Parts: sequence; C-alpha cells; structure tokens
Amino acid sequence: MNVPSRLAAIAASILLLVSAAVAGELRDYAPVKVAPHTWVIHGPLGDPSVANQGFMNNPAFVVTNDGVVVVDPGSSVQAGRMVLRQIRQLTDKPVTHVLNTHVHGDHWLGNQAIHDAYPRAKIMAHPEMIRVAHDSAAATWLDIMDRLTQGFTRDTRAIIPTIPLAENQRFTTGGIEFRIHAPEKAHSGTDIMIEVATESLLFLGDNVMNGRFGQMNDGTFAGNIAACDRALLLPAKIFVPGHGKTGGRENVSAYRNYLSSLFETVRREYDAGKKDYEMKETVKAAVAPYIGWEGFDLHFGRHISVAVLELEAM
Ligand SMILES: [Zn+2]
Repeated sequence: MNVPSRLAAIAASILLLVSAAVAGELRDYAPVKVAPHTWVIHGPLGDPSVANQGFMNNPAFVVTNDGVVVVDPGSSVQAGRMVLRQIRQLTDKPVTHVLNTHVHGDHWLGNQAIHDAYPRAKIMAHPEMIRVAHDSAAATWLDIMDRLTQGFTRDTRAIIPTIPLAENQRFTTGGIEFRIHAPEKAHSGTDIMIEVATESLLFLGDNVMNGRFGQMNDGTFAGNIAACDRALLLPAKIFVPGHGKTGGRENVSAYRNYLSSLFETVRREYDAGKKDYEMKETVKAAVAPYIGWEGFDLHFGRHISVAVLELEAM
C-alpha cells in the first residue's frame, strides 16, 4: 500500500471509529430553565427501551457560584455524558456534587460519566440507597438497563454514592443551600427530596410522577402519601418530579390523589373480603382520571397487589 492510500485507510478507520462512538451516544435533550439557577432535562415518559435508549428520568442541575450540583444524572454512562454536554453549553464550571434521589437505576447509573469527568465530585444519597445499591440493586439495575435497551447501555458501571445524607441535613455550596428531606418508606425506602429554598424549588424524586406511572414494589402507599403531604407543607413553588413535566403544587396534589384514591378504595374492598382480582373494576373507577397516564395498564394491577400486601402487613 502506498503512503496516500495507507493514510486514506487510516482516515477511513478513524471515521468508522468516530461514527461508531457517535452511534453509541444518547441523543440530546434540551434542558429547561425552571428557576434562576436550575435546569431540568425532562426525559421520555415510557419504561426503558431501545427507542428511548434507556433514558426516561429527569436529570437536573443547579449552577452555584463555585460549580454545578447535579441531581439524578440518568440511567447509563451515555445518559450522564448527555447531561454533561447540556451543562457545558451553559457553564464551564466543574461539577462539584451529585445527588441521587433513590436507588432505582434509571436515576443514578449516569453517575459514572460525572465521576469520569470530575473524579473529585461528591456523590451523595440516602444511607439506605448506598447500602441497597451495594447489596444487589446496582447489579440488578445494570442488567435491567442492558436487557431493555438490547445492550445500548452495556458500557455502564455502577458508581455508587459514597457520602450518606441524613434527614434534615443542610449543606451549602457556592452560595446555595440544599436541605434534605428523607421521608420513610415512601417510593422506594431509599428516598430523599431536595429543597433549594432560594430557588423556591423541591426535587421530589419518584415520590411524585407526572403523567406517568412506575413500580411501587419497593415502597408503601402510606409512606408515599406522607411524603407528598410533607412536600405540600414546604414553601416551595416549583416541584420537580422524578418523571414528567415540572410544575407547581398541583403536580404533588395530583399524584397524592392517585395514591390515596387507590389505597383507600383497596382498603374498603379488602375490608369487605375481596381479593385483588375481584376489586379491579371498582378501584379502576376510583382512579379513572389517571387512565390516560403512561404505564397505567402495566402498573395499575401491580399497584393494587402492593396495596393489598401493605394492608395485610398492617
Ligand atoms: Zn423510582
């Protein structure tokens, strides 16, 4: 091979490598500015799939005087890199902190990308999130994402948070104070909500979803309803759900209403001696306004079963 054609061959193979790398990246989603220093990237509403590349949560970031605080950088290293690309459109400041709202992998497996780019960033979560992730949840969620995306997320490694956050803990970075609320046995038993008072804003994690349902298997209805009530007592005006559009208090009230309508109807039916499959139609009528939400058909029956188990354990 002469020199020009060898160069051409090298160039062609580099091009192939580059296009393969681009093909392996998550498509970009534009961040929405929801408060003076806060942006949210609203992910698709469905469950992880080939079509959505496994991306389906709401990564967010707060730009402080000294750096960037990231909340829930997504379900894979590819999602985390996508989040970083959006941050870099807006600021050159380093990421100083990553907060994970709970143990479900669609929210935190993107930690890897932040850790790769900013190894000194503090990665923080509920102590129970850290314990459960080490126990088995990290491996389980890596596998779920790999399987549902048919290998798209395969390069992802679990970077588990190292800094536990306590109930009512406050920390300040770059002039902005973050306050942690850790409701017990809510969506997952590993949940934190993050209040940024100067932004009049609350990150809810999956204690609230908007327009979409997910699993309740790791949580309790009573605890999740209590978490919603706690959120509603705070003076926040902007409520960022784990999935679905950011909004006001109505976001929290709507999800609370679904949980309580379902739970109270299941309780009445259960007290009347009905089995979960016998109460389905009655419960469905009680939550009729939510039938159009994404994932209703998949999750509604499972929610009844979780509610029955919870009542049996009371
Ligand atoms: Zn979740």
